Amino acid sequence: MKFNTALLHQSIGSEQNGATLPPIYQVSAFSHDSPERLEKVFNNQAPGFAYSRISNPTVASFENRIAALEHGIGAVACSSGMAAVTLSLLNILQSGDEIIAGSGLFGGTIDLFSDLKAFGVTTKFVKHISTESLEPLISKKTKAVFAELIGNPALDVVDIESVAETTHRYGIPLIIDSTTATPYLINPALHGADIIVHSSSKYINGGGNAVSGVIVETGRFNWDFDRYQTLSAYRRFGKFAYLAKLRNGIFRNMGSCLSPMNAFMNSVGLETLGLRMERLCENAKALAEFLSGFEGVSVNYPTLSANPYSDLTEKYFSGRGGAILTMRVGSKERAFRLLNRLKLPLIATNIGDIRTLVIHPASTIYAHSDEQAQRATGVYEDTIRVSVGIEDIEDLKEDFQNALTDIDHD
Ligand SMILES: *Cc1c(COP(=O)(O)O)cnc(C)c1O
Repeated sequence: MKFNTALLHQSIGSEQNGATLPPIYQVSAFSHDSPERLEKVFNNQAPGFAYSRISNPTVASFENRIAALEHGIGAVACSSGMAAVTLSLLNILQSGDEIIAGSGLFGGTIDLFSDLKAFGVTTKFVKHISTESLEPLISKKTKAVFAELIGNPALDVVDIESVAETTHRYGIPLIIDSTTATPYLINPALHGADIIVHSSSKYINGGGNAVSGVIVETGRFNWDFDRYQTLSAYRRFGKFAYLAKLRNGIFRNMGSCLSPMNAFMNSVGLETLGLRMERLCENAKALAEFLSGFEGVSVNYPTLSANPYSDLTEKYFSGRGGAILTMRVGSKERAFRLLNRLKLPLIATNIGDIRTLVIHPASTIYAHSDEQAQRATGVYEDTIRVSVGIEDIEDLKEDFQNALTDIDHD
């Protein structure tokens, strides 16, 4: 099946009464005929559901679709993208361990790594994740390499195959946050990623109507249970060890489960991911090229010919650059004036909506980062991030043109 067909027909269970979408099981608990039966369900000896914090049919339906789409052996949906990022790591880490991560990451993830210090987990940052930048930092303590395929907002593209080859050589799993790339641009599992996380609040949901995240296990990493000691109790699950520990351990005990209603919203959104991404990428590319033509404006977008990642964009994403662009306009005053003058884009801290959203990252998402950390993520005081929507491109161009004209005069 090709992408859009798979979104509609792959891994879809037959629902009762011929329902064309998974029903919303808006319940906390599931009853069973006998205590014997519930005992079995509770202990994974029989299929079924016990309590929605652990699993729920509407959520499971969403998880199965994502797992199939991302070529994984299973998925766990979480209450937010940050919950997914957190649990994907805590599932294998213990005090004393180190993570290596790119410094151009999503701000919440950078803040999380700083929170983890209190629990004895430290993170070493490199400006851009590559074999050359990683290798000198790898030690016995390194237990995970974490990267965003297209950094948000740095928009740096990771050479995933070469990086995966390196981390595997050292017995370290590569965890990829593929939120900004989406399964439309790439399936990281087919290029060496071991664990994939998405903030499904973004492109997967697509309508900006529910916060959620998802962790996908590719089943390809060969866990060394002496090195990953907290996993060893699950070694009997073989290649499902990571998933089994997640579901029966940290995910269920931390309690960051996805609500059935939000899982349903995601399943509805997921079905149009291909159509939306096609349009979003087209619009973003056209707008990036258009804005590049303005004096005093510099644009960062992966497919622009001057962009250092245009070759990797061609190689991994067939030349599609995703739906985010950033632009520098000269000063914070100009950036604010531009945001005030734009009529169509909404000023909001989100990406992946069907509406165009704009934000000044330095005063919002990165307000808690020092200047050095901001620079490392490609954020300057005159940077604007544009999460391009599906509006008609002529309207977007006209709006930006009007807003940029005579920008120094009110
Ligand atoms: C938004 C985002 C997150 C966090 O997701 P939430 O659903 O907001 O918790 C993580 N990674 C990336 C790349 C994001 O854009």
